Amino acid sequence: MKLTTAQADRACGAVLGSAAGDALGAHYEFGTGEIGPEGPRMLGGGLGSFEPGEWTDDTAMAWCILDTAASGADLRSEEALTQVARRFREWFDSHPPDIGNQTRAVVGEAGPAPTGAAMTATAYDLHVRTGRTAGNGSLMRTGPVALACLDDPAAVAEAARGLSALTHHDDRAQEACVLWSLAVRHAIVDGELDVRVGLEHLSAEAPAFWAARIDEAEASPPGRFRPNGWVVAALQAAWSAIHHTPIPAEAPERHLQDALATAIGIGDDTDTVAAIAGALLGARWGASAVPAEWREVLHGYPGVRGERLVELAHLTATGRLPEQSEDPFSVLDVALLILEAVGDLHARGHQRLRIVPGMSPSGIHWRATVAAVPRTTESRGHSSSQEHARVFRYTSGTELEVAGEPVDAATTPSEVADRILASVSDPGVARDPAYAEWYADLLALVRRHRTVPIAYADYFDDEPGWEIGWCTGRRFPAPPPPPAGG
Ligand SMILES: [Mg+2]
Repeated sequence: MKLTTAQADRACGAVLGSAAGDALGAHYEFGTGEIGPEGPRMLGGGLGSFEPGEWTDDTAMAWCILDTAASGADLRSEEALTQVARRFREWFDSHPPDIGNQTRAVVGEAGPAPTGAAMTATAYDLHVRTGRTAGNGSLMRTGPVALACLDDPAAVAEAARGLSALTHHDDRAQEACVLWSLAVRHAIVDGELDVRVGLEHLSAEAPAFWAARIDEAEASPPGRFRPNGWVVAALQAAWSAIHHTPIPAEAPERHLQDALATAIGIGDDTDTVAAIAGALLGARWGASAVPAEWREVLHGYPGVRGERLVELAHLTATGRLPEQSEDPFSVLDVALLILEAVGDLHARGHQRLRIVPGMSPSGIHWRATVAAVPRTTESRGHSSSQEHARVFRYTSGTELEVAGEPVDAATTPSEVADRILASVSDPGVARDPAYAEWYADLLALVRRHRTVPIAYADYFDDEPGWEIGWCTGRRFPAPPPPPAGG
């Protein structure tokens, strides 16, 4: 299917969002970790002694499906089901630290190099023997299924059923995978969150059963859906978390982070509920809504980084890898140049020069002011003289210009520093090592995340310090005060 850039981002989000939820929830699985006041964090640990940012069985199994889909296979075909079954078995043979009981029973019994039909039969036998095969273990890995056939909802439903039945035969498990996969498809294609779109693909009493369960998830607080090992409760927990978490008006994509925090806050099987929720949240808000600091640390079975999931998801959904094209020089580059230029000025000895960055009241433009802090001895009682002091001002509203002159990819920080120097009164050469060191640390974070710092904004929260990147919640301490006595 030919996708827009936004749709392709959302397709990648269905996989990356799920992996992020999984890795984030790992620390808190079955009460192994307490959620601090700042919300869940990428701490690793949990039942499998995972590394921070490492995904668990949920994403490992999703990878088995994704890798098969990325090869161009039709996920409904026996060949594809065999490939997925063998990937499951390879993962099983790697002795994963965290594996669901039902999955262990089926994948273990299916033996080495199973066919899809053999594994499906093993799962069916388990169902006949125990009547209890409606765990959440097939729903947790269903995120990639829709990517392979975005233009064909009926194909998505059929693939979701067949992939569930490899290990989870129970009708409820299969139906949950159909509903969730079709919700993921709808979010990717149409940019809407609607878990009911798949109801028409269920048969007999199932649509009424699920409609009532979805209503219940919306009418009840998320915390009601604990425990959530049963696939129905897991779907309700994930949907209740998504439904009850407000979409921030100023930064809607933050809904992904917020709703994952809600999902993990439910407790019990936190990584799985967050992996399920993350698939749909990522499908709605895109891979670009997954915070950079999570993307940087995401990794896991089979020894790949999170970005590999993005590549495979893009390949599955569009038939090609994401373009590695150089981004055009943008206002962000101008802002980064200004921030580098201030560092350059500090290196030249102008350490009284301080920058105050913030957001315009509209929340659209980034602004920065650079000025020399007054020498304390002079400024005492002479504050009025400051009104006439020249300061350097920048707003991203001027696009690719600094101090009235254009900048481009060839402009150096030193050239921008010269323009700043020419714009301010009394830049002086004076040492302020505490500020210069603080600024160097700030600059390191700015470079790492390729984003701007924010010291103020309308409706800025009252947490101390500056924010690194608008609405990221990533904090940096406020600058140290100027030295006394100048
Ligand atoms: Mg897990």
